[in-house]
This record gives sequence, structure tokens and C-alpha cells, in this order.
Amino acid sequence: MLNLKFDENVCTTCPTGDCLVKCQYMDVDKDTAIEEMLKISRGEDSFVFNDCVTCYGCEEYCKRGNHPFYLITEKREEKGLLTSPRAVTRQWINIGEPQGKYRLGKVKEKLLAFGFMPEFLRWVKGRLFEDVMPSFAFGQEFFCNVVYIHFANTSIIKERLPIIVDNYKKLGVKEVVFIHDECYGAFTHLAPAYGIEVPFKSTHYYEYLYGRLQELKDEIRPLNIKVAYQRPCSSRLSADKHHYLADIMKLIGVDLVEREYQDENALCCGGIFSMCFGYGLADDVQKRNIADMEEHGAEYCVFNCPACQSALGEKIAKRGIKPVHMIDLCRMAIGEK
Ligand code: SF4
Ligand code: SF4
Repeated sequence: MLNLKFDENVCTTCPTGDCLVKCQYMDVDKDTAIEEMLKISRGEDSFVFNDCVTCYGCEEYCKRGNHPFYLITEKREEKGLLTSPRAVTRQWINIGEPQGKYRLGKVKEKLLAFGFMPEFLRWVKGRLFEDVMPSFAFGQEFFCNVVYIHFANTSIIKERLPIIVDNYKKLGVKEVVFIHDECYGAFTHLAPAYGIEVPFKSTHYYEYLYGRLQELKDEIRPLNIKVAYQRPCSSRLSADKHHYLADIMKLIGVDLVEREYQDENALCCGGIFSMCFGYGLADDVQKRNIADMEEHGAEYCVFNCPACQSALGEKIAKRGIKPVHMIDLCRMAIGEK
């Protein structure tokens, strides 16, 4: 039985209640925030179960090492408060079922992990990856399953994640560079929160890209463009790596526009909202987000997560802002695109 590390006493003495005070989707003061977290922790009802749109933000806002969002999700599941119809949840869970159709490259001690994102099979190429490729793993057997937290289903994550950890272990790898940052968050943030041991080094691909770009520094041609960044929900689980975004942009001569919805204030792409909370919320959040990019003169929008790019890419392109994934942007800077 995997139990979440959440300490009610830590909330009792909390000076800020930042988990809910900073929430972009609720209007809550400090005392109410602490009171609601204590109620949730005790298994009581709370308006948070209704209002939380699963943006992962409070996992970053809580600087005291508690896990407010994981707790909200656990209690939602316990109470049967699903965020989308049961059939939709089941359908999603089936997608991640290991089916023995995974793909492995020539596995070495250092491995690139693509999770279950087929886009990475096409995007991960060129000199940025030549020191590791073709050592890669792709498929449900290497997919972290954290996405199911949007569906208030941590039990499936707790069931599958130890198996996924074991699948990597069986490959004999010493270091895994996670190309999808949700997987990185799974192994470095969610796994420890549940006491799941991870027997290899996990590296975030922004850190990896920054290191490779440093090695290829002489080949960088400053891009001299203005970009907005679409921060994904999963990036809240690796907040200590978020600085690599600005570091990389500086290195490749990109002006990261200072807009309202960035860093801690980032808004979701809206992809999950349309499935779980209705098109109205998705539409409102996307409109505000895109208007903010336009107001700040962004020529490009850089994506980290392919799912965000799929949810927003076409909509921003219609407004004259070019969608580009972080990998492609870095490849542009070394003349590969
Ligand atoms: S979860 Fe964190 S931020 Fe929220 S009340 Fe508890 S200690 Fe404070
Ligand atoms: S996950 Fe997001 S929406 Fe839900 S309570 Fe935390 S900050 Fe608010």
C-alpha cells in the first residue's frame, strides 16, 4: 500500500496558505486556504473538490513540501468525485495499458525516454541528441501514467508506476533523460511523495538541452525573435528546473516576453479542461492566454508538452503567432531547421 506523504501539522503552522491563495482558478484568502486543506486532509467535504481544475499549480506554490494537489486528488477519488464521466476516464486508462508494443533503440547506460508521446519519435534527432541516440525507449511500458491525476485517479498511477520503474530498471540503465517533463515529474516528484524508490538518475530534458547547447556554443546563431512560453501543468512538478527555460533562451538569443501568464502565473493550455470541465472554461482560459501573448508582441509560442501544442497550436497560428516545440527551437538555433 503506497501512502501519500502529507502532514496536516505542516498546514496548521503554515504562514501563507499559498497552495490555494495563489490558485489561478479560485479566489481564496490565507485562513480559508489553510482551513480547507485541513478539512480535506481529515476527509471532510470542501468546495475545493468542486473548483479545482487540476492544473497541478499548488504542488509548486506549497513551499513547505506538502502535496496539496496529490491530496485533493486522493480524496476526490475516495469520495467518488470524478472529474469526467466514468466511461471517459476508463477509456483514457485503457490507452495507457501496457500492450507489449513498445519500441526500444540500442539501449545504453544513458537513455532518452519518450514516454508515450509519438511526436518525440519524429522530433528527437540531430546533433543535440547524437551523444545518446539511438538509445531510447517509447511506449506504454515506459509511460508514467501521471496524466490520470487529472481524472482523480491516483490509484491507477500507484498501481502502474512501480511497474514502469521496474521496466526501466530491467533495461540496466544508469541515467534516463526524460523528454516529456511529466515523466520527469513522475520519477522525481510523485514517486518520492509515495515512497516509490527510483534506482537510476533522472534528468530533465531542458537541463540536457542546455548542456548540449553549451557544447555546441560555437554553432549557435542568435535567433533574435520574441517568444511566449506555454508552461505545461506537469512543469509544476519540476519547478526547480524551470530556470533552464530562461537559461536556454538567453543562450540562443531569444527574447522571452514578460507576460502576465508565465512562470508561477501560467495558465493551462485548456486541453484537459475541455475533456473534464467543459468547453466554456477551456475557451475562456485559451482566449485570455492567447490575448496575453498577442499583447506582449510574441512572434512565436514555445511549447514544452506536445499535448499543449496540440490544444493551442492551431489557435495561436490563426492569430499570427507561430507554434514551435522547444526541441525545434533549439535545432533552429544551431542551423538544423
Ligand atoms: S498545503 Fe502547503 S501551502 Fe497549503 S496550507 Fe498546507 S503547508 Fe500551506
Ligand atoms: S491543482 Fe490548480 S486548480 Fe487545483 S487547487 Fe491546485 S492550484 Fe488550484
